[in-house]
Amino acid sequence: MSERPYQICANCIMDTTDPNIVFDQNNECDYCNNFQKVILPNWHTDERGEAELIKVAEKIRKDGQGRDFDCIIGLSGGLDSSYCTYIVKERMGLRPLLFHVDAGWNTDQAVGNIEKLVDGLGLDLYTEVIDWEEMKDLQVAFLKAQISDQDLPQDTAFFSMLYKFARQHKIKYVLTGGNFSTECCREPEEWGGYPGIDRTLIHDIHSRFGSRPLTTFPIVDILTYKIYYKYALGMEVYRPLNVVPYLKKDAEQKLGKLFGWEPFIHKHHESRFTRFYEDYWMPRKFGYEKRRAHFSSLIMTGQMTRQEALERISKPELDEHFLQQEFEYVAHKLDLSVDELQQIFDGKNKTYHDYKNKRFLIGLGSKAMAMLGLEKRLFR
Ligand SMILES: [Zn+2]
Repeated sequence: MSERPYQICANCIMDTTDPNIVFDQNNECDYCNNFQKVILPNWHTDERGEAELIKVAEKIRKDGQGRDFDCIIGLSGGLDSSYCTYIVKERMGLRPLLFHVDAGWNTDQAVGNIEKLVDGLGLDLYTEVIDWEEMKDLQVAFLKAQISDQDLPQDTAFFSMLYKFARQHKIKYVLTGGNFSTECCREPEEWGGYPGIDRTLIHDIHSRFGSRPLTTFPIVDILTYKIYYKYALGMEVYRPLNVVPYLKKDAEQKLGKLFGWEPFIHKHHESRFTRFYEDYWMPRKFGYEKRRAHFSSLIMTGQMTRQEALERISKPELDEHFLQQEFEYVAHKLDLSVDELQQIFDGKNKTYHDYKNKRFLIGLGSKAMAMLGLEKRLFR
């Protein structure tokens, strides 16, 4: 592939570290254009959104009659899922079951936030703990596979457990904190944004680099949840944060005032592994800054200036000494020596193309979703 000259969007801070980014004649990127042309006209947080919120709440409440819960929310302790929980209980008047998956990497702050929210809202919480030996084995296998998608093991555990639990308990509605406000600029696939749970990819990587069988580790494949769960079981995913005013700072303040909820330094910092992966592993090993997409979302939605974003991204969120300590912590937690983790870090980078996968099929599915108007974010 020929090297293209460096270019950065004149509006947001997405740049040519996304190899497929396209710029228009004003030097604005296709994420910004997609936001203006596709997302904005379909995003209503005024009375129109309010009316939709009420309508959906009524439908979910009616379906929930006679059941223990109306819906399920996967709660990480981060801002999006926490604020979603608040809206679902207080604004929609629903009875959600809060579902948390403990994959071994919770920060104390995430655990504290979950407790405060559960107590403050008087809701039920169910926590599922992933078998640590299997989790560790899969994570080490992924690290050895040298691909950028190092959060797939955690994401797979979180979403698979949630879908499985909802199915077993016949809970039809999955409400999530997914939203345009902080996520309208989707991280490109090259930056570890593999678009879903791919059993083929996970099994291939684990069969090559894993050392023990995955007997309890949950893997619900994307084709299973997008097709079978949706069309055969009638499971529906709904994102309430897209129809209410949702600004990061305001939401943090509100949760803080009401429940003593504490804000994180940055998105995804509720997991100690994700924090390390996004602030250390990705930028230094692969040259990808996920914050670039996070900040660009905030710029597009008017919550951050481009200048602020440029300053913030010029250095890591966490200081060097802390990051070195985290490197040691992650190594030890995964039963690797610091040298072993360093050797993996220094190894040659690969991509999911080096392994068996069903990316092609997933791509057909997401193209169909975009054509039907079901996915508005730019998804190449
Ligand atoms: Zn842009």
